[in-house]
Amino acid sequence: MIDFHCHIDLFPDPSALIKELEVTGIYVLAVTTTPKSWGHLQTLLQQSKRIRCAIGLHPELVAERSREVEEVCALMSETRYVGEVGIDGSPNLRSSFELQREVFDRVLKQSSSLGGKILSIHSRRAAPAVLDALSDQPGYGSAVLHWFSGTQKELLRAIELDCWFSVGPAMLCSEKGRLLAEKMPMHKILTETDGPFAQLGGIPAKPIDVSVAEAALAAIWKVSPKQASEQILQNFRCLIG
Ligand code: MN
Repeated sequence: MIDFHCHIDLFPDPSALIKELEVTGIYVLAVTTTPKSWGHLQTLLQQSKRIRCAIGLHPELVAERSREVEEVCALMSETRYVGEVGIDGSPNLRSSFELQREVFDRVLKQSSSLGGKILSIHSRRAAPAVLDALSDQPGYGSAVLHWFSGTQKELLRAIELDCWFSVGPAMLCSEKGRLLAEKMPMHKILTETDGPFAQLGGIPAKPIDVSVAEAALAAIWKVSPKQASEQILQNFRCLIG
């Protein structure tokens, strides 16, 4: 199984979760929200075979931490994975919208100058701005739009731009999320949890909960959960090359 967007460092006991994951054999992309948390997590993950750590600067933190983008860019040469990055257009973040856009552009430019990275991207209420930024910066690498919640029209544009999508239990529990997932190309989908932010039955989602997303995708694709799981693993291999 694959959890392509999980905030391992924000669980109460990251070391315990990492040990648990080593036993279950789930592949995890551990996204981070600041360069500092990337440094900590990177140290914890040195021995890990299946957990990779992405360097990020969460759009909700850009208002206070925009200067840290230079640190992010400097550290990007040390990893193939970047995230969580992106733009959030929620009303409470409106004052930092332009700054978020500049920071995201900076990250994409750096990604491009380093030959292309794999990016886990946040686009809540900002899909047009995120897609504009991606199309302005060819060569950035591969974009994985995490928990995409734009319109059907925005989804079509994302597909045209060759984006990938990571979908989780929380998204697939909603009618709108399911309708979007139905239109996403089967070969461009990965699973995620966005734990511990996203919850499942009132409890922070853990990587093991991607099984719920696999079952939902199996129903959408009209295949068995095992076939869905194999498809996602194949997609993952294709993405990482
Ligand atoms: Mn997240």
